[in-house]
Amino acid sequence: MSSPKNKRPCRLCNKQAYSGSRWGFCQEHDAEFHVARARIQELRNAYYAQHRKCPRCGSGVSQTLVGYVMDPDHPEEFKDENDCCCRCGWEGIVHELVAEEIFNKGE
Ligand SMILES: [Zn+2]
Ligand SMILES: [Zn+2]
Repeated sequence: MSSPKNKRPCRLCNKQAYSGSRWGFCQEHDAEFHVARARIQELRNAYYAQHRKCPRCGSGVSQTLVGYVMDPDHPEEFKDENDCCCRCGWEGIVHELVAEEIFNKGE
């Protein structure tokens, strides 16, 4: 009953898993994984900054919420294909949305 869980080894090497790792890695791989996740988060933020608003009217849109996985080595290939619809009648996918700045120019 008091036997510790997480006795399984690291998923990437065979060292003992770090008890604080949510993903079952050893301390070293857990740290690497955090760095990789942070990088993906940054790339995703950059992508979504460019794909945010309805290309027709500049409004925010509602969208479906399928998760798409980004390959950090090929961020340019990432394509969010969630369906979107705007109250102006535009329908498309997240990848067709545009950056907010486009609608702030020259006003
Ligand atoms: Zn490891
Ligand atoms: Zn619109």
